[in-house]
Amino acid sequence: MLISATKIEAGAILLFKNGEITVEATQGIFKPETLTQHISVLDAVNKGKPQRIKLPKQIQLDGVLTQFTPSEVFIEPIDFKGTHLGVMIAATGSEIADDQTNTTLHLFSRSMGLALNNALIHSKFQRLAAYDGLTNIYNRRFGMTRLQEDFGRASREQSALSVVMVDIDHFKNINDNYGHLVGDKAIMLIASILKKTLRDGDIVVRYGGEEFLMILQGASSKDAAEVSERIRHKVEDSTLNVGEQQIGMTVSIGVCGYPETNVADEVSLIDKADQALYHAKQTGRNRVVQFGTLSV
Ligand code: GH3
Ligand code: MG
Ligand code: MG
Repeated sequence: MLISATKIEAGAILLFKNGEITVEATQGIFKPETLTQHISVLDAVNKGKPQRIKLPKQIQLDGVLTQFTPSEVFIEPIDFKGTHLGVMIAATGSEIADDQTNTTLHLFSRSMGLALNNALIHSKFQRLAAYDGLTNIYNRRFGMTRLQEDFGRASREQSALSVVMVDIDHFKNINDNYGHLVGDKAIMLIASILKKTLRDGDIVVRYGGEEFLMILQGASSKDAAEVSERIRHKVEDSTLNVGEQQIGMTVSIGVCGYPETNVADEVSLIDKADQALYHAKQTGRNRVVQFGTLSV
């Protein structure tokens, strides 16, 4: 908007997040990540004061700042109620900024604080809506939406997609013997083991109380069963420490892979993984069962 309404031709929005400066949005800036190291940017960040830098014509900027030679660069802090949220960087092209560009830029950066604050709150809420409060992994609602999308893609492209259902064995005993708080800790431990075992792009979901769903893109049922075996071993080898006591746990796992098992939708895929899980429970627990190997 700013670019079309003013003589600004390139710009960037940088945000402070967890003590770091990150590039949130850019337009027309070459290597925007270098902005976070730029001395003038850091200066504006530290002093919290707007900067307007006029550059002599023909100055060479080593191609760092923009894809053209800017004549003026504005660096505006973005604040909301005294908190520094970030900085906005705007550069004019061949023409230097006129009065209107100047005024619009200041107005823009002032309202930016409010807009950005709203956006940050919104994304915080979105995060809250997608994650499970106890384990900090995805919740069931998010997981199902994600699986629906992944299944849609797998079925269009005929690519592999596996789902894995994990259920803690005899979990009621842990609750009964040690209480619900220890039970909660057990759930957290299993969730962290699952998360650590997965590759980038795979996700783990808290599907129910002590049941987890993993979605493995591009994985055949055999790949998924291998991952599941690793998980099963890790759980078996780890203990939950409560005071002097060390509590051992095991999990049962059901796997189903598409398109080897040719299901019509993602709900059927989960249902089949669930059947495999049920079979693992029936045949002694602490086991991994692939749906494809069941004679049903
Ligand atoms: P199985 O080996 O057949 O899975 O036996 P199980 O005892 O694990 O049986 P099941 O899976 O049916 O039991 C789930 C239990 O998990 C029942 C419920 O009280 C408990 N549970 C569910 N959600 C939570 C939770 O958030 N915290 C705690 N502490 N317990 C939970
Ligand atoms: Mg269960
Ligand atoms: Mg269980």
